[in-house]
Amino acid sequence: MHEIVSKQRTFFNSQKTKELSFRLQQLKTLEKVLKQNEKLLLEAIYKDFKKSSFETYATELALVYQEIAHAKKYLSAWARPKRVATNWVNFPAKSYIIPEPLGVCLVIGAWNYPYNLSFSPVVAAIAAGNTIILKPSEIPSETSKVMYQLISEHFDEAFFTVVEGGVAETTELLKQKFDKIFFTGSTPVGKIIYKAGAEQLTPVTLELGGKSPAFVTASANITMTAKRLVWGKFLNAGQTCIATDYVMVDKAVEAKFLEACKREIEKANYAFENNNYVQIINDKNFERLASLIDTDKVYYGGNTDASQRYIEPTILQNVDFEDAVMQDEIFGPILPVIRYSNLSEAIQKVQQLPKPLSCYVFTTKASERKQILNTLSFGGGAVNDTVMQITNSSLPFGGVGLSGMGSYHGEAGFKTFSHYKSILHKANWLELPLKYSPLSNKKLWWIKQFFKF
Ligand code: NAD
Repeated sequence: MHEIVSKQRTFFNSQKTKELSFRLQQLKTLEKVLKQNEKLLLEAIYKDFKKSSFETYATELALVYQEIAHAKKYLSAWARPKRVATNWVNFPAKSYIIPEPLGVCLVIGAWNYPYNLSFSPVVAAIAAGNTIILKPSEIPSETSKVMYQLISEHFDEAFFTVVEGGVAETTELLKQKFDKIFFTGSTPVGKIIYKAGAEQLTPVTLELGGKSPAFVTASANITMTAKRLVWGKFLNAGQTCIATDYVMVDKAVEAKFLEACKREIEKANYAFENNNYVQIINDKNFERLASLIDTDKVYYGGNTDASQRYIEPTILQNVDFEDAVMQDEIFGPILPVIRYSNLSEAIQKVQQLPKPLSCYVFTTKASERKQILNTLSFGGGAVNDTVMQITNSSLPFGGVGLSGMGSYHGEAGFKTFSHYKSILHKANWLELPLKYSPLSNKKLWWIKQFFKF
C-alpha cells in the first residue's frame, strides 16, 4: 500500500493531472469502461443481493453517468481562476483564487449502492485533478471484484487504482499519508476514519447515515404522498441512506395515510421475481432487522424468510420514540409511523434527535413547509417527495452533525477535492510609504482611512 501511495504521489507531482485535457480524457475512459462492461456490472450486483438491471441502472449507473456528463460540461468553468475584489490597502493590485487539486485521495465506499457510492466521488476527484485509491465495500464481494478488475485493466495504477478488502486492509490503508479521505458509511466507522485523518491532519469528508424523518401534515396530498414515500422507502429494500426512516403523521390523516401506503405497496407487488425488490445484504443485517419488527405494532407486512434474506415491506403503527425501532438507523424495509397532534411539538421531538441526513416534508401549506425547513437542521431533503433530490447534480449532497461533514455531486464534488489558493497580485508602478518607517501619526491616520473602504 505504501508503494501504491508513493507511486501515485510521484505521478501527481509530475503535474500531469493538472492538465484539463488529461482529466477530461480520464472521465471519458471511465464512462467508456462502465458503458462497455455494463453487463458484467449488472450480473455482479445481482449475484450479491439480487438487485435487478433496471434498479441498478436507474439508481446507480445513470447517476454516475450524469455526474460524468456534468463534470465534462462544467470542468473548464470550475477549474478557471476566479477574480475577486481587492481592498484599497493593497492598491494597486488584483486578487484571484486558483483551484488546485489536493493530491493523492482515498475514497472508501459503502455496500448499499456499491457502484454509485464508489464512482461518483471518483468522478469528482478526477475532475478536480487528483489521483485516487478506491476501496469499495467488501460486503458485496462480486461488485468489489468487478470494480477491481475493470479499473486495473483500464487505468494506470499510478493515477487510479482499486484496493479490495475489509477492516484489516482499510486500517492498513489509513496508516498511509493521503491528501484527502472521502468516506461513505456508518457513523461509528466514520469516527474511526476521522481519527485516522486527524493523525496526519488529512482533510476528511464523511458521508454518513442517520434517522431521516418524513412529516405528513394534515394538508398533504395523501395519495401522492403515499406513492412517493412508499417508492423511496422500499427501493433497495430500504437499504438507502436517504430513505425515510420513520414518518411523523398528523393524527387527522393517519388512517387515510396508512391505507394509501398499503394500497401502494400492494400495487407495486414487491418481489425478487418482479425485479423491484432486493435481498437484505447479509445474515447479520437480516437478524438485526427481523428483531425490530414488533408484531403487536405491525399494520402491514411483517413476514420474513431467513433462507432468502427476505423481509416483507412492513409498516408499524402506534410507534413511539422509546421503541427499539426508533433507537438507530433502520436501513431496511420497515417503516414506523408516529402519530402527532401538534406540528410544533412533533418538530421539537425530532429536533432532540441527532441531525439526520435527510428530511421530507409532505404538505401543501407554505407555513408548515417553512416551519419545518427553518427549524430543523439536516443534510438535505425534499418537499412532497423522497430520495429524488440525489438525482440533481446541482444540489450539493451531504450530511450535517452526526450524518456527516462536507458534500459532493456536481460542483460541490469538485470543491470537496480541491484547495482554493488565494493570490494577491501586486503591480509594481506604485508603493505607498504608509507602512514603512519612519512611522507617524499622520501615516496612521491614512491607514485608518484606507481600512474604512
Ligand atoms: P460501514 O461503515 O460498515 O462500512 C463502510 C466502509 O468502511 C466499507 O468500505 C468498510 O470496508 C469500511 N470499514 C468498516 N469497518 C471499518 C473499520 N473498523 N475500519 C476501517 N474501515 C472500516 O457502512 P456500510 O454498512 O457499508 O453502509 C451503511 C451505512 O452507510 C449506513 O449508516 C448508511 O446510512 C450509510 N450510508 C451513507 C451514505 C451517504 O451518502 N451519506 C450512502 C450510503 C450509506
